[in-house]
Amino acid sequence: MDSRVTVVYADREPMPGIINPGSHQLFRNPRISVETRTLNALHPEEIRVQMCYAGICGTDVHLVDRNPDTGYIRCSAPLNIPIEGRVIGHEGVGKVIETGASIRHVRTGDYVTFESIIICHCCDMCRKGKFNQCRHAQLLGLETDGIFGSVVDVPGLAAHNVTNIIQEDNDIMSLACVEPAGVAYVACQNAVVSAGDIVVVFGAGPIGLFSAILCTTVFGASTVYVVDPVAFRRRVAEKWSGHVYDTEEFFSDLPNDIDVVIESSGDLENINKIFRNLNANGRVVLLARTGNHLALSAVDYMITNRISITGSRGHLGGAYNDIFKLYRNMRFPLNAAITGVVNGGLELVNLLKSREAILYENCKVLVKFE
Ligand SMILES: [Zn+2]
Ligand SMILES: [Zn+2]
Repeated sequence: MDSRVTVVYADREPMPGIINPGSHQLFRNPRISVETRTLNALHPEEIRVQMCYAGICGTDVHLVDRNPDTGYIRCSAPLNIPIEGRVIGHEGVGKVIETGASIRHVRTGDYVTFESIIICHCCDMCRKGKFNQCRHAQLLGLETDGIFGSVVDVPGLAAHNVTNIIQEDNDIMSLACVEPAGVAYVACQNAVVSAGDIVVVFGAGPIGLFSAILCTTVFGASTVYVVDPVAFRRRVAEKWSGHVYDTEEFFSDLPNDIDVVIESSGDLENINKIFRNLNANGRVVLLARTGNHLALSAVDYMITNRISITGSRGHLGGAYNDIFKLYRNMRFPLNAAITGVVNGGLELVNLLKSREAILYENCKVLVKFE
């Protein structure tokens, strides 16, 4: 069977003199194309899926976006681009057309959505149930081939059966957003967002937007400020928060007693600028990867006030099942971030080549596969 897949190529040239280089210091000159590939016989632990919708993530944009000065890609997430290219894409929904011999939890004809962290189930973190920190995690569409394709093979354990949740096409589109929603959900959990909290979310991309919505509707925050320099994204966020600000405007009149900061913008200086307005026992959660340093100026204030800064990655550990229930009961609008749909791999490639169209004129864009 043939599949039309979207593939990224790059030259692996580690920047000289850097210990532990990130992928933004390893891969140069990204190229992207749509190709026809013939699928091998299905692995016993995989499922073959005809894709319906896939979501474009900021990571995908940064994967093909090169720094004009150095030629290196901007993406700093764990990544391996082999010589034969990497099929990208890690958010989406499809219909199962074949199941490997070991698969029990889904059948042909079922709709599935995917976790994008393929875990080992055997390491010390997995054994403890800390799946997001699996020692041998492989990121779908970054370290292993992803789901931007007409037909894709995916590890069965990464698939969630969502057949019962789907009543119309709108549900399929919504469920294509579960992965970023799960990231936001786990970030809220890691931030221990609690009843009455005052929350500031930096960045109104899909994950920031979902975080803001969840803080209000699910985790009980009293006020959620959403801060983003991009006018389009502010307009999307204004449907869900009465406190949406341009970055400069926000810092000219900062609120006090902020309990939680969710950093999904990538502008780490925001943390220094807001730090002294954090309440005692405040929590800062870092989500956006940039490869940049954070030099915190107010360390004494942090100690006195027992403020914590934590990283958050992933969506494993039960978030999907909670989100499915919240979605089904109309407590969490998974379609809130969708602002555009393109058709097929060629339109996807054209869009990825113009990062402005995604970052400044959209929030979540879906790709529809026929
Ligand atoms: Zn993503
Ligand atoms: Zn593991």
